[in-house]
Amino acid sequence: MVLSGPSESSIMSTPNVKSKAHSRPAPGSGVLDFIAIGLGPFNLSLACLAEPIRDLRGLFLERNEDFDWHPGMLIDDTTLQNPFLADLVSLADPKSPFSFLNYCKQEGKLYAYYIRERFYLSRAEYNRYCKWAIRQLSSIAFSSQVERVEYVERTAGDGGEGHYVVSGRHVRTGAPFVHRAARLVIGVGSVPQLPPCCEEAREHCIHSAHYVARKRELQKKRSIAVIGSGQSAAEIFYDLLKECDEHDYALTWITRSPRFFQMENTKLTLEMISPDYIDYFYNLPDNVREGIIARQDSLYKGVNASLINQIYDLLDDRRSRAGRGGSPARLITNSELTGCHYDRNEARFQLRFVQRDEGVQYTHATDGAIFATGYGQNVPGFIDGIRERIRWDDKGRYRLSRNYAIDVNERDIFVQNAGLYSHGLTNPDLGMSCYRNSCILRELTGEEHYKIERRIALQDFSVPDTDAFVKAPLETQ
Ligand SMILES: Cc1cc2nc3c(=O)[nH]c(=O)nc-3n(C[C@H](O)[C@H](O)[C@H](O)COP(=O)(O)OP(=O)(O)OC[C@H]3O[C@@H](n4cnc5c(N)ncnc54)[C@H](O)[C@@H]3O)c2cc1C
Repeated sequence: MVLSGPSESSIMSTPNVKSKAHSRPAPGSGVLDFIAIGLGPFNLSLACLAEPIRDLRGLFLERNEDFDWHPGMLIDDTTLQNPFLADLVSLADPKSPFSFLNYCKQEGKLYAYYIRERFYLSRAEYNRYCKWAIRQLSSIAFSSQVERVEYVERTAGDGGEGHYVVSGRHVRTGAPFVHRAARLVIGVGSVPQLPPCCEEAREHCIHSAHYVARKRELQKKRSIAVIGSGQSAAEIFYDLLKECDEHDYALTWITRSPRFFQMENTKLTLEMISPDYIDYFYNLPDNVREGIIARQDSLYKGVNASLINQIYDLLDDRRSRAGRGGSPARLITNSELTGCHYDRNEARFQLRFVQRDEGVQYTHATDGAIFATGYGQNVPGFIDGIRERIRWDDKGRYRLSRNYAIDVNERDIFVQNAGLYSHGLTNPDLGMSCYRNSCILRELTGEEHYKIERRIALQDFSVPDTDAFVKAPLETQ
């Protein structure tokens, strides 16, 4: 890939590009082919896959000064939920120099990795791998906070099709910047979400996204409540449980879920993380998709089985030691948080719950609380200037085309990780990043640079299209 800035002048011609959808901006016009906003794993994967494509001119803008993957949850010994093949590039191009295996080779770790047989990378190692990949990319501008995007109707330089003006500020120096591009790829991730009842006490509530930075402060309290029961909640509970006696706090883990359930990862279920399932899901009516997502908690919201077992073992060890000191730990299910009051004088939370089966309302007083209550869609303020170019659903979410575009022409503005309700549970999964980025690159260049798998599942998600399955109501047969 060619970088990039608006001052760029010597850009080569673009042979082999057969884009029907959008003509490419003229080289030297100062209009890039695309600007990607945000540099999490999804846009980083795009940057790595775009890098070898000749003459594709892109720029990646990230507001942070460096890459750090969910630093608030970089807890010791936590791992990715996907095997290492779900790295930034391998599922699109196993020969890519940006693969995890090449990282191991270049860093002298390949034999150690081979001997350890650790297919699930630690989160810290994945973070180091991403930073290594970034050091080889020329297309990234850190400390670049995007504040506004506007659309400019056709100019001579942009192929006569109009372009986007992306402006913002350097976060440290405050210096303004302006870049122009024919297309956008928005990869700004999601935003930490607290239950609505926490609004009044918001400034005292710690979300799991900030756990590592606030851990020491939490551990000074005499009691801590962990709210939620997804993977993050479980990792935090386990981390706090291990150090419970050393710091002498009482620990309580409370969830709305009816049980501390396991994230399902049997093979036929994993087939739902596939192009086949995206096609099936995408073509269902809106209300049916909503219903499906509401019933799929165990596929992406649960806790991995080994962590549940570790927690159980540790709790049981502590129970065996009971009577020899040690602070209590409690686990409570079925309890929905309905109120959250912070008493400044007492420096305590009064958390109100309803036990959903019994209908019993109760209050739990705790000095510290950590809310592992998930993330919501991030619709950044900078798109206000192009709001009317975007397709929205009736809930104020982007309405994605099958090719991940959200603009009215279905060819200009692409999004990462914003399609839970259109593309299903594949949306936040690192394992589908290469697939999505291969599709986006095909749209950006008009060519399928990376072979896109269409069918990988052994099962049929819709009624099979063969004579053996007659599609007709029973009474007409
Ligand atoms: C703790 C945790 C662990 C996870 N583990 C896994 C896992 O093991 N496997 C899996 O499949 N999924 C996992 N996920 C889910 C998902 O894959 C990750 O959340 C992933 O980081 C999402 O990547 P992203 O690129 O969408 O966003 P993010 O990683 O959130 O990155 C978005 C970036 O955009 C930048 N940005 C935002 N606004 C602007 C702006 N205006 N200007 C410039 N930059 C901006 C932000 O600074 C940020 O760096 C995990 C999620 C969490 C929270």
